[in-house]
Amino acid sequence: MVESLLTLNDYLCFKFAPMRFLYSTFILLIICFITACNAPENMDLLLYNGKIYTVDSTFSVSGAMVVHQGRVVETGSLADLKAKYHFTEEKDLEGAFVYPGFIDAHCHFFGYGLGAETRADLTGTTSMREVVERLMIWHKEHPTPWIEGRGWDQNDWTVKEFPDRALLDSLFPDIPVMLTRVDGHAMLVNGKALRMAGIDATTQVSGGSILVREGSPTGILIDNAIELVRDIIPEADTALMYAALLRAQEDCHAVGLTMVADAGLRDKEIDAVRHLQGNGRLSMRIYAMLNPDPQTLQPWLASGPSFDEQLIVRSIKMYADGALGSRGALMLEPYSDRPGEFGLEVNDVDSLRRMAALARKHGFQLNVHCIGDAAVRRTLDVYSGFLEPGNDMRWRIEHAQVVHPDDLSRFGRLGVIPSVQATHATSDMYWAEERLGPRISHAYAYRDLMKENGWIPNGTDFPIERIDPLLTFYAAVFRKDARGWPEGGFQPENALSREEALRSMTVWAARSCFAEQFTGSLEAGKVADFIILDGDIITAEEKIIPSIKVAETWSGGKRVY
Ligand SMILES: [Zn+2]
Repeated sequence: MVESLLTLNDYLCFKFAPMRFLYSTFILLIICFITACNAPENMDLLLYNGKIYTVDSTFSVSGAMVVHQGRVVETGSLADLKAKYHFTEEKDLEGAFVYPGFIDAHCHFFGYGLGAETRADLTGTTSMREVVERLMIWHKEHPTPWIEGRGWDQNDWTVKEFPDRALLDSLFPDIPVMLTRVDGHAMLVNGKALRMAGIDATTQVSGGSILVREGSPTGILIDNAIELVRDIIPEADTALMYAALLRAQEDCHAVGLTMVADAGLRDKEIDAVRHLQGNGRLSMRIYAMLNPDPQTLQPWLASGPSFDEQLIVRSIKMYADGALGSRGALMLEPYSDRPGEFGLEVNDVDSLRRMAALARKHGFQLNVHCIGDAAVRRTLDVYSGFLEPGNDMRWRIEHAQVVHPDDLSRFGRLGVIPSVQATHATSDMYWAEERLGPRISHAYAYRDLMKENGWIPNGTDFPIERIDPLLTFYAAVFRKDARGWPEGGFQPENALSREEALRSMTVWAARSCFAEQFTGSLEAGKVADFIILDGDIITAEEKIIPSIKVAETWSGGKRVY
């Protein structure tokens, strides 16, 4: 070809000398174009010699992946990718397993970090004695003018009744003590805290309760009553908010999380997130559900939803009821272990409807916390006034723990997303039947719920559960807790397959946040958020799975753990 071109060139030069310059330029351009096409492009990173689960629509698996400028460029075979590109860095996976970064579709990221910075950890305590021992150690190390703790659960104690304040009063007579139950829906406070909050036996709170015995408050506050003592503690300042967010990020990256949906942030907290993301210290992607307090809500309703790959603000969080453990879940029929009690209406139907109207008008999702079957039914009733069948507005019901069989099909019909937490099933299974009786058969029905829309997001609700998404995977697939109990799994008919469970923690979780366009799977153009595990959760024997560890976490093409 070169020879014939030269011959042609000679001919043209001879015949048409004035065209010589133009023609040479043209040839030069062609040569440049051909060279450019053949030159391998330079890419930032090649990962190879691993098993890469892309979690794309066909659940494809690749041996190698190309990352450039924070994004996935291509997955495929090592030979093909090497032939196509040059790489600044090549990483031998040494046979390890790669998955998209985990996404927690419902957690309290900021609250977890704040708690870790400011509250004594009471999880796993087995008695009030042990609670008090931990508080004394904590208070020595953190001499604040108040004491906060979190994580007690009377269901783990020998005496499974709510504790009272007697022991706290004798040991801490002059300093307010506030101890949040594991589910965040009940709190034990001492006499000093009650006095400071102005609570006595006659105090009434709508959507909450103050337990009273022999004419005096026992110290147990449930749901909205907790708000009465919150004011005793000064609000977190900016420095504490930053510390909390960074602490939460560190722990989350260590378990493979690259994105979280924070179920209720206030304006100041969202500002803190934005600040830390802006200066590059917070790489965690955050879907912030708005706390419905007027100070937070008003400016957001005025400005409308906001969306970028770091921070998505396009939903409002509401509570319809409380939690099952503290008998605050709102039930259609009374509690089996407390005749006459139906639970708590944290927000009534009118408030839910008003918020739904605002959400619809201003283009936000509405995400309502519903644990009991009455809360689910009321919320679906409200939603049905705003959602047309076939809509893709992805309004969510958070938890959807007890769903009456008559209401199940309404999820699919209205396109309502049940946002569930697999470890709630395996934490509650020890005592949920006492509360629910035969209703247990339609509680924690994650497979049935998944079938409604064909997909389901999963999360943990941490700090209520542990933050580790691999526990979610194990609970979703095997319906067992971290100890491997029970033998055959709790209601195994509602287990998800391994593929479904992985999707629920990645691409389906992203979808519930309107984030599936840029994350949730390892496909060309999406952000390079991925994790490397030392075992294969898709094929490993069941008994191996609880010991599989996150070796590395990458966010936007950068290693963060
Ligand atoms: Zn929650």
